[in-house]
Amino acid sequence: MSSRVDTDITAKLDGNSDPELSIVVPVLNEQENIRELFDQILKVVENNLKVSFELLFVDDGSRDRSWEIICALHDDDARVRAIRFSRNFGHQTALKAGIDSANGAAVITMDADLQHPPAMIETLYAKWKEGFEVVNTAKQDTKGLGFIKKTFTKMGYFIINLLAEVRIEPGAADFRLMDRRVVDYIRGLGEGQLLLRGIVNWLGFSSTTLEYVAEARFAGKSKYTLRQLTSLVLWGVMSFSGAPLRLSVYVGFTAASLGFGYGLFLTIRWFLVGVDIPGWTTTSALILFFSGTILLVLGIIGEYIAKIYDEIKGRPPYVIAEKTK
Ligand code: UDP
Ligand code: MG
Repeated sequence: MSSRVDTDITAKLDGNSDPELSIVVPVLNEQENIRELFDQILKVVENNLKVSFELLFVDDGSRDRSWEIICALHDDDARVRAIRFSRNFGHQTALKAGIDSANGAAVITMDADLQHPPAMIETLYAKWKEGFEVVNTAKQDTKGLGFIKKTFTKMGYFIINLLAEVRIEPGAADFRLMDRRVVDYIRGLGEGQLLLRGIVNWLGFSSTTLEYVAEARFAGKSKYTLRQLTSLVLWGVMSFSGAPLRLSVYVGFTAASLGFGYGLFLTIRWFLVGVDIPGWTTTSALILFFSGTILLVLGIIGEYIAKIYDEIKGRPPYVIAEKTK
């Protein structure tokens, strides 16, 4: 394997001449899908579009034969290029790495599991040629997606859109085309961790959205756990908004007002009715209420500080173990 692996892992991948189209695909244990995806993409780009392209795989710490298969593809076809992370860094980070090293005039990101139909590349490309700098896609439905995950995803988008200052369309997936100008901006972003679909909307640029029905996975299981989804939602809200911090002010203010009102009520009652025998219930209820509020507010502040800490350490967002020549 070492013959085809570049030793200089810090530099950008040196592609041939800059192709018209880069297709970036993050991969985590997708050994059954990679060849099929390659075949389908080849069919569309080579036969129908007839443009120069590169297919850029980012192996996000796969433990199956994914990397081997990608390397074999690269040996047969130099337009296939790849990066392998030293461990799993997550889907969004893999996308960022792919975007960072893509050379194309337009860059398409898509999943490896064929849920994003390669046939749509043609339409994405056509829209780009029409002049749109970002071509988003929105899935109307996902075949074979479980009820819990569907509900959870919907709730996630609801929360993000309620609190964050950027709108993220429900059903927005990381299947999109971006013009080189947009890509250069994303490469230059200082944020280590990012929610790509939020950032792309935040950047602005002329965009359009295509709708599609996501197929069920070609093979294998979803690599997203509920925990990863939760942190994606949290991150989506926090990286685009200070609203939760403001929310804690409201909650704290309401709680304090209630407490003050109740104290006033007790005092007046003391004057009117006389000595009350204060029950433990009231006391403990109050203590619970206020300590709860304080903990909630502290928790929210803590989350933000943790994110600040993460960013301030200035660690690279990902570590590349090897890459193809
Ligand atoms: N993926 C990745 N790293 C991860 C999780 C997922 O690179 O930590 C890749 C995965 O191989 C796939 C894409 O990201 O190509 C989308 O993942 P998946 O299909 O599991 O997500 P879902 O479609 O279920 O939301
Ligand atoms: Mg999928």
